[in-house]
Amino acid sequence: MIGASNVARQWIIDAIRAQPDSTILNVLSSSEERGAGFAAENGIPAHTTDIDAILADRKVDAVYISTANQFHCRQTLAAAAAGKNVLCEKPIALDVADAKKMIVACREAGVVLGINHHLRCNAMHQKLRQLLREGTIGRLNAVRVFHANFLPEALHGWRVNDPDGGGLILDSTIHDIDTLRFLIGSNPTHVMAMTQSGRLAHDGVEDGIMVVMRFPGDVLVQIHGSYTVPFSEGGVEFYGSGGVLIGRDCMSQRAAGRLFMRNADGEREIPVQHHNLYHYALAAFSSAVRGAGHPAATGEDGLAALAIALAIRESARTGRQIEVEIP
Ligand code: NDP
Repeated sequence: MIGASNVARQWIIDAIRAQPDSTILNVLSSSEERGAGFAAENGIPAHTTDIDAILADRKVDAVYISTANQFHCRQTLAAAAAGKNVLCEKPIALDVADAKKMIVACREAGVVLGINHHLRCNAMHQKLRQLLREGTIGRLNAVRVFHANFLPEALHGWRVNDPDGGGLILDSTIHDIDTLRFLIGSNPTHVMAMTQSGRLAHDGVEDGIMVVMRFPGDVLVQIHGSYTVPFSEGGVEFYGSGGVLIGRDCMSQRAAGRLFMRNADGEREIPVQHHNLYHYALAAFSSAVRGAGHPAATGEDGLAALAIALAIRESARTGRQIEVEIP
């Protein structure tokens, strides 16, 4: 584990250990004291402040990178050079050039690169995607995404005070983007956005956003995201020529979400068999490492989500509509 992080503690350690052939050998922290505490608290047999101690260990097949966002690129490049498979947290990197370097380095080293966009691992989204592909609601017209939260104090830190690595767009809106790419099956062509700042974040870091995007087929998409809205429920709504699909409580880390369809016959709930999102992601990554299939979200998925997120940020900063280029 590269990074003694909250997300590792809360979700990923358990998900790694849930895989039949996986165990955690070591954790890297920039602080000796934090690493020692993290290792002890989580039953990890070793901790280090030296990434080479992990990368030189032949027993290590893969690293999970969950450091702050500005370290993802450098640590992925080091892991690839050492022949280690990489599951890296989102955003893949802070700029497109770095993301491309990571993809090329992993490809050339012959190692797997996965990006942990977990929402596409939610069973409700997977069911919704299947229904959209089957044409259940006809021609898609518009989509709305609701992803407003109240950021708990424990998560403030870099999210609210780092103008480069922090902010809602690269932290949260990028999840919405990946989810939309997964559900719609394409990338937006144009984006426009307005942001808020100052309710919780400072130094110009955004803590609220409204985005409008155009997807191929003239599909309009709207996202509302926030760190500062208590009591809101995350959700998605897909409006088609023959019906509406509504996902409720489906934009979190939990195995949750209820799916409803409304059409000429009225409204009915569509059953969903839920599974743990992170167990699903780690299972897909482990299979890919063994040569079967690919991670739930690949490096290319991470790159596309980042390029769209940066276009959204550019729009918010310039007040212009931005044409999206996926490298
Ligand atoms: P944390 O702030 O918990 O951890 C990030 C880094 O901050 C750690 O690697 C750690 O550095 C350092 N850190 C942790 N605690 C302290 C402390 N008390 N004082 C100083 N530094 C500290 O971040 P998150 O777990 O929230 O996020 C980590 C990554 O995971 C990010 O890239 C984020 O975008 C992503 N993420 C993904 C989620 C998902 O569901 N896919 C959910 C949440 C986050 P060190 O290792 O050097 O000790």
